[in-house]
Amino acid sequence: MKPLSILFATSEMAPWVKTGGLGDVSAALPRALAESGHDVRALLPCYPALRQAFPEATALAEIPALAPALPPARLLAAETDGLPLLLLDCPPLYDRPGNPYVDVSGHDWPDNAIRFGLLSRVAALLGQAASPIDWRPDIVHGNDWQTALAAAWLHYEGGAASVVTVHNIAFQGCFGEPLRAELGLPEAAWRFDGVEYHGLLSFLKAGLQLATRLSTVSPSYAREIQDEAFGYALAPLLRHRRDHLHGILNGIDAKLWNPAADPALAASYAANRLAAKRLNKTALQQEMGLDPATDRPLFGVVSRLTEQKGHDLLLAIGDDLPTLPAQLVVLGSGNPALEAGFLALAERLPGQVAVRLGFDENLAHRIEAGADCFLMPSRFEPCGLNQMYSLRYGTPPLVQATGGLADTVVDVSAATLADKSGNGFVMADSSSDALWAAMQRAAAAWSDKRQWLRIQQNGMRCDFSWRHAAADYDSLYRAAIADRH
Ligand code: ADP
Repeated sequence: MKPLSILFATSEMAPWVKTGGLGDVSAALPRALAESGHDVRALLPCYPALRQAFPEATALAEIPALAPALPPARLLAAETDGLPLLLLDCPPLYDRPGNPYVDVSGHDWPDNAIRFGLLSRVAALLGQAASPIDWRPDIVHGNDWQTALAAAWLHYEGGAASVVTVHNIAFQGCFGEPLRAELGLPEAAWRFDGVEYHGLLSFLKAGLQLATRLSTVSPSYAREIQDEAFGYALAPLLRHRRDHLHGILNGIDAKLWNPAADPALAASYAANRLAAKRLNKTALQQEMGLDPATDRPLFGVVSRLTEQKGHDLLLAIGDDLPTLPAQLVVLGSGNPALEAGFLALAERLPGQVAVRLGFDENLAHRIEAGADCFLMPSRFEPCGLNQMYSLRYGTPPLVQATGGLADTVVDVSAATLADKSGNGFVMADSSSDALWAAMQRAAAAWSDKRQWLRIQQNGMRCDFSWRHAAADYDSLYRAAIADRH
């Protein structure tokens, strides 16, 4: 089949700018698509980290002010591992330190509507005849609210077919009505079936309403967001568009997350050489100031600390850990109350619970390798990457059955051990009691070394490479192009 030209628009890309799963997906999916023969370019803001990483980036085109609130900008061309990058250079909007969405005190940048309005507008422009460069994509692929609005211009003004992927529906990008004119969206777009959403301009709702096709990052989450409980008020719209909504499970970067060749680890290991994993546990215990206990499992957490991730359920039973007995290591940051709760727990249980606040990529790898069992009691989880990293690292995950967690983790039972599918532990519901019950089951399974090895190997055999996802996106893009014509 004829290869496609694809513009992948995103607000973050690992390793330079990453706040969560979208950063990882943006680093891997465009490359996987390029490896399968497509002509892919990734568009993202030229944040300071990118300017530093690509000092040789060359000016490709000038972009004039496209609307009253949008400043002029430039497109820079760079390349990473054969993937062409289009860096949207506009220092007044993107040249600032730290996180792409919030300032140092954790507040949204006050001009986020303009920052991501410009990114969306330029993504759309590159898919239109008026594009300042001569490369023209068949597909403009927006991701989350920050680039979803591109679909609106493509819908009203014409251009390439569009796809919008929801990585997390909780973030929607809603702003005041005057922004419509300031961003240069047509008056006709101000409708309930346009960009308007309860009197506000919603970037995500606009994308979900107007993109040619939609996707989200796991089949279960595609079903869940059509339900009021998960859809954050967008469920009716998603039900309306369900024939155009696809669930495609993310892959993982199998080179970056490979216990057999991970420079962050104390010792490398593989499914047929699992004994060395123990050295990583000892090293992690030492690094984090935990007792060097070998008679109890070590549970690991690497996560944003937010209500979504369900760590309040863990805090509620934290003081009981020594009765299991088990140790706990936590790496995360976010909600101040959760951060304080984990710090206090570590103070009450020294040697048994260790907590590191902050974002630390290398420590995340060492926790994946050094923990015995990885905890993800999420209330909702569009896809989740850590459970797949855990499976690959022989660290069986313990999860709530939601979204991508439900699609990747198979609860250990006599039947699933017999058919070699059981690879982790699934909570019966979203409660502290259910979490505790699953932790008890995991601790008991861990004590039976032969059974534990089988569970680890079942997980390590799973193939979460991006090849599968890339093939599914190929079909989705072709469906969008067919719709558009
Ligand atoms: P989400 O995108 O909702 O945060 P995912 O599981 O999809 O959750 O992706 C989270 C990614 O961010 C993983 O790669 C995880 O290892 C990483 N991560 C989250 N918190 C931290 C942290 N404090 N330090 C290092 N990596 C983290």
